[in-house]
Amino acid sequence: MNQPIIGMIGLGMMGTPMANNLLKANYIIHGFDLHLGAKEKLSHFANFHWQSSAKEVALSSDVIILMLPDSKIIDELLWGQLQDGIVFDCKPHTLFLDMSSSNPSNSKNNAEKLKALGHEFIDAPVSGGVKRAIDGSLAIMVGGEKTSVENMMPILQAMGKTIIHVGSSGAGHAVKALNNYVSASGLLAVSEALVAAQAFGIDPHLANQVFNASTGKNNTTDVKVENFMLSGTFNSGFAIALMRKDIQTAKDFIDDMKTSGGFASTCLEHWSAAEQGLEKGADHTAMFKFVKNQPKE
Ligand code: NAD
Repeated sequence: MNQPIIGMIGLGMMGTPMANNLLKANYIIHGFDLHLGAKEKLSHFANFHWQSSAKEVALSSDVIILMLPDSKIIDELLWGQLQDGIVFDCKPHTLFLDMSSSNPSNSKNNAEKLKALGHEFIDAPVSGGVKRAIDGSLAIMVGGEKTSVENMMPILQAMGKTIIHVGSSGAGHAVKALNNYVSASGLLAVSEALVAAQAFGIDPHLANQVFNASTGKNNTTDVKVENFMLSGTFNSGFAIALMRKDIQTAKDFIDDMKTSGGFASTCLEHWSAAEQGLEKGADHTAMFKFVKNQPKE
């Protein structure tokens, strides 16, 4: 495909910096988001063209990137409630690249339905957060047919550093959900450990220093504890509602696979309680604040 026109629907915390990197790599983007603020952030690029609706994006793009909250929104956008979704407006042989953290079985289904209509679908969710979306070093886990994935490599490489084709349609979304379950477990464990250390009179900064020099080290101890948790800023850019959704997706996936998932259920219970107990729109790093404020049993 010669320099495709990229449609981008969903220009939020992640979509905007990802679009920024595609624009810097000279791709033409036709973008849309329900929130108009996104338009201003990219309008200084001559190769960025804001569209008035998702349908306008579909009519004019060769590759459509979706960077939206969840599968419910994606399925509604694609298919509509009365078969009036953007799939019915797009060009022949459109390639849909779902980079959101979606549900693997919905994605598998979307891939099959789109293929029957002559389109292609790749699931390519990302990891690394807003910081790595900005510097173009995201990890991208990809599910889909080999040729489609190979064709999309230059586009993916403009946004990410480590791109791994993990399997057929839905596999990327499965690995993404499992990754976030593992990450969420780590953050919850670190929160409980630091609160207990503090209760004993140990400086939590020193405790985290020990974790980082020892076997307890993980992404939370390395990246989040000082920057977003002990600092009290709780502003990593990844909402707790999205993290809870990802753990739910992982738990549902484990259930579907009929493999052992007792810890995933416990993890989900804690994150659901925190989402309900914290203010609306809270960042996922506010789990630390939630654990700290829990009454003793
Ligand atoms: P976000 O809420 O900041 O952005 C989502 C955007 O989608 C919003 O701007 C919203 O207005 C827009 N939107 C919703 N419905 C729409 C529709 N029907 N049409 C057009 N626009 C619509 O979320 P985010 O943090 O950018 O996350 C996007 C996806 O990436 C999610 O699936 C999330 O789980 C995943 N993700 C997020 C992070 C992170 O650190 N924030 C990291 C990895 C993956």
